[in-house]
Amino acid sequence: MGDLERTGVTTASTDDVTAYIEMLNPAAAGGGVFAVENPATTKTIAHVADGTAVEAAAAAHTAAARFPAWAALPPRTRGELLSRTRELMLRDAEQLTALICAENGKSHADARAEVEYAAEFFRWYAEEAVRSGGDYGPSPAGGTRTIVTHKPVGVAALVTPWNFPAAMAARKIAPALAAGCTVVLKPAAETPLTALAIARLLEEAGVPAGVVNVVAGLDAAGIVTTWLRHPDVRKLSFTGSTGVGRTLLRQAADRVLNTSMELGGNAPFIVTATADVAAAVDGAMIAKFRNGGQACTAANRFYVHESVAEQFTADLGARVEALTVGPAQSGADVGPLISKRALAGVTDLVEQALAAGARLAYRSRPATAEGYFYSPAVVTDVPADSPLVREEIFGPVAAIVTWSDPEQLLAMVNDTEYGLAAYVYGELGDALRLAERIDAGMVGINRGLVSDPAAPFGGVKQSGIGREGARAGIEEYLETRYFTIAW
Ligand code: NAD
Repeated sequence: MGDLERTGVTTASTDDVTAYIEMLNPAAAGGGVFAVENPATTKTIAHVADGTAVEAAAAAHTAAARFPAWAALPPRTRGELLSRTRELMLRDAEQLTALICAENGKSHADARAEVEYAAEFFRWYAEEAVRSGGDYGPSPAGGTRTIVTHKPVGVAALVTPWNFPAAMAARKIAPALAAGCTVVLKPAAETPLTALAIARLLEEAGVPAGVVNVVAGLDAAGIVTTWLRHPDVRKLSFTGSTGVGRTLLRQAADRVLNTSMELGGNAPFIVTATADVAAAVDGAMIAKFRNGGQACTAANRFYVHESVAEQFTADLGARVEALTVGPAQSGADVGPLISKRALAGVTDLVEQALAAGARLAYRSRPATAEGYFYSPAVVTDVPADSPLVREEIFGPVAAIVTWSDPEQLLAMVNDTEYGLAAYVYGELGDALRLAERIDAGMVGINRGLVSDPAAPFGGVKQSGIGREGARAGIEEYLETRYFTIAW
């Protein structure tokens, strides 16, 4: 079961998380506060200072003041500070895991995997910090020389979602700092604590105060708009829904800001006639049920060749029925959805599909706890135009459509505004031929996981602009310039 396998790692107790949250002192900034809820219990776990446009402006001002000194540090020094941050994240991995479980609700295994994945961005960009590169050479006509060089964009505004509170913050902070940018970060109001914890570790690692400035708050638009209008902010890196991404792109246009957009997805998971069905089921469990399906890369629609559909569906169904659902402390495979609203949304999508003729074929046992749990399900006979396969489900529901004609398959697969991830299972040549024709930024071939700090993560079409991870991730925070020299 890969990522979902129980790790046997003991989970931190509720008291440990409470102590860790107290240590973070999240309400310290004064003024109003907002409550953060554990979606597995619906209980408030912390009150966090409710940042507004005022705090946002102050944070941008601080980041701008710190920018020249940070950008002037030797790249090796910046890299070492990032390396040290990774070590501290791993030192505190169990507390961070417990914090993610508490504010996001995901399973202990998923949260622990996220902490390690997030820490890896600090390692990768510690290594990239020293490779800013450049070029020098003669012009074609020989009369001049050209020097190509890079400089940090400037103050970067980072906006992150709730579904990977550590990884989405790390995937932006690490390359921005490596490039020499200072940052202001707005985490999602559902999960501000993990970002505050990472900021604290950066400070402990020795990153000077004011280089990373977190402003959490309920007024997302007020905070982010303040940054987009601030004369010192030169960059917006946003991860979230396509709808909000469109709004922010429009606003960013006013000051022609440099933007990176990691937006929504609607990943197809294709099983061909030549697929190893057991491997495809293993991959489907990860691609669909990791994080309870609340991932932008989550398999959203399964297209299974008719010759293997019965076997794939039955085997996947048996695995889904065996999944346990509950709070992270119980060691459950799948946690709750993030909110009551999310629960209502997934419930509604499934009900619409069932009303249109789909069949609820398999379901895990329901959770006994209070939270926003949705029991993982396999839905078959889904009409190709059902909202269940056209919209982001963001929940643990595998919607299965069968296919026989590859051209019709590709038409269905590409008939979406999204183009983030896709998965193809089949004999390598078959899979590659299909993969090349899928409009997606990332394709997992005989693999149910595409995320990797060393790979350029991102989407095509309305799933985004730009890449995070790999060399490409740091380039998002660098401007290319050249000097031309009379010879
Ligand atoms: P969201 O768009 O509602 O919120 C994302 C962030 O934007 C949050 O911090 C939120 O507070 C802020 N925000 C919301 N409205 C805003 C506004 N009007 N102005 C400025 N900021 C605003 O998304 P979400 O529900 O937190 O996350 C789920 C979405 O994120 C899904 O669509 C998912 O696919 C996407 N996502 C994409 C990636 C990726 O790498 N492509 C990764 C994770 C999540």
